[in-house]
Amino acid sequence: MSVVALIGLGGNLGDVRSRLDAAIDALDATSGIRVVARSRFYRTPPWGHVDQPDFINAAIAVETALGAHGLLDTLLATERAFGRVRDGERWGPRTLDLDLLAYGDEVIDDERLAVPHPRIAERAFVLLPLADIAPEAVLPGQGRVTDLLARVNAAECIPLA
Ligand code: ATP
Ligand code: CA
Ligand code: CA
Repeated sequence: MSVVALIGLGGNLGDVRSRLDAAIDALDATSGIRVVARSRFYRTPPWGHVDQPDFINAAIAVETALGAHGLLDTLLATERAFGRVRDGERWGPRTLDLDLLAYGDEVIDDERLAVPHPRIAERAFVLLPLADIAPEAVLPGQGRVTDLLARVNAAECIPLA
């Protein structure tokens, strides 16, 4: 029994592309997770606090036997393994951010996990990579990825070769 989940990746400290590649490999090597699609990398302007380096963002699709909360735990543990330090500053610089964007077509909203991720529709840096791997996906409560992408300004998000 497996569910397709969509995961957003980002970071803006150090060699982010190498770290995202390694994080994707680490997730694929995790029992109960198989990476089935990955987007291009994008260089994107910072969101929230704008006085910090540009981000690199990507998205992957995985097939997983883990439950949504178990998958979240794996994402948080993988962030820590790649040097993520939580200093309390939300939306600040970080080595690695792994967000669970969607878990099948489930809707979850509890103290640890909100799925679909509630801020996808306002973020070109999430929607552009998602459109590479799942353009037709419909996010419950938000809409179809390509429709959402058409409504944001993605001009400053640059796909990398
Ligand atoms: P944003 O969620 O706006 O992208 P962020 O990624 O910077 O902000 P974090 O500091 O990485 O936020 O995460 C804070 C907490 O958010 C995590 O500890 C986790 O419990 C919770 N959380 C809720 N829903 C999700 C989700 N869909 N994916 C990842 N974390 C989530
Ligand atoms: Ca995030
Ligand atoms: Ca996060």
